[in-house]
Amino acid sequence: MNTKIIPLDHDILLETIVAITEQRDQHSLELSLFASLREMLQPLRGFFLDLPASGPARTIVPSRYEDVALPESVITLAREMSEYDFRQARTPDLVYMLAVMEIAKDGGRRVLLVGMSSWNVNSERLLVGMVRVYQNFMKLMSDSEKDTLTGLYNRRKLESHLSSRLTARLHDRRERDKSGADPALHGMGEYVAVLDLDKFKRINDTYGHLIGDEVLLTFANILRASLRDHDRSFRYGGEEFIVVLSDVNAEQAARVLDRLRSNVAGHAFPQVGQVTVSIGYTMIDCQDLPTRIIEEADKALYYAKEHGRNQVRDFRALRAEGAVEDNQHDGSIELF
Ligand code: GH3
Ligand code: MG
Ligand code: MG
Repeated sequence: MNTKIIPLDHDILLETIVAITEQRDQHSLELSLFASLREMLQPLRGFFLDLPASGPARTIVPSRYEDVALPESVITLAREMSEYDFRQARTPDLVYMLAVMEIAKDGGRRVLLVGMSSWNVNSERLLVGMVRVYQNFMKLMSDSEKDTLTGLYNRRKLESHLSSRLTARLHDRRERDKSGADPALHGMGEYVAVLDLDKFKRINDTYGHLIGDEVLLTFANILRASLRDHDRSFRYGGEEFIVVLSDVNAEQAARVLDRLRSNVAGHAFPQVGQVTVSIGYTMIDCQDLPTRIIEEADKALYYAKEHGRNQVRDFRALRAEGAVEDNQHDGSIELF
């Protein structure tokens, strides 16, 4: 064995772990991983390969490196690797280490490729270690955004999601105002719905808390199955949920939510039988705070509850009819 073992610089290693675990979102985490790889391995190339379930592969190259044309055999290898697998692939100019970073439910995946002129035991171990730290931290980050019973996003994630959607919305408006485009032409928007199971207390009282939990779980599954991939669902509280629909117009939003309502009402819940849900929703427009959006949807939900339950109500329509109050400027702001 003639591989030279270079002693690790423990300070750099420590700094790397600190830098990675300081991040709070996936993009910063990825940048931090590349920065660490550069510092510790000085690879000649480093990038992600995105392999969707169908469609062509795409390389995501951090700015310091040039785009690359990979041999087809390397892409095939990347497609065949299993989760947490590491492999080596030789190309005419470099030797790549491949690491599967994540695999989506549909089989689409993201693979890290790091190219060196050669690898030794030391550099391989270093790469494996860093990727493990990164993956564990990714998992920790994603778990902290999920509700443990249903696996849906939790309230904390809702807060950050709505804030970022409101910011994006404001930015879009400014761009439109600058360009003088007619917002009415646009028509597509984002809608936020609050969903509350009807008479849920009675389910708990009649069948017990465990069956109640099972109803919540089944309901969450119906929610997932009824929505498109890019819609988001959250567990807001006990038996209250929030759905954010993007890229829909008013009519589509109403249709999707009513289909959801009817999927729930039509489902035979084990032991319990029929369970219904009431839904109130509103459009993300120029509300000043995430809480304001929820407040509007909540008013529409309250209206649905008062008017027979098992129905979907639109805050903006109710406001236009004068059926709900709009206290947009009363100055009382309730924070999360
Ligand atoms: P309404 O149609 O007006 O919404 O009636 P409701 O009975 O659903 O309304 P209420 O808000 O009074 O009751 C909600 C109940 O949900 C109270 C609580 O016991 C139950 N609950 C809240 N969180 C959980 C949970 O995590 N698991 C179970 N099993 N029950 C929960
Ligand atoms: Mg409730
Ligand atoms: Mg309820």
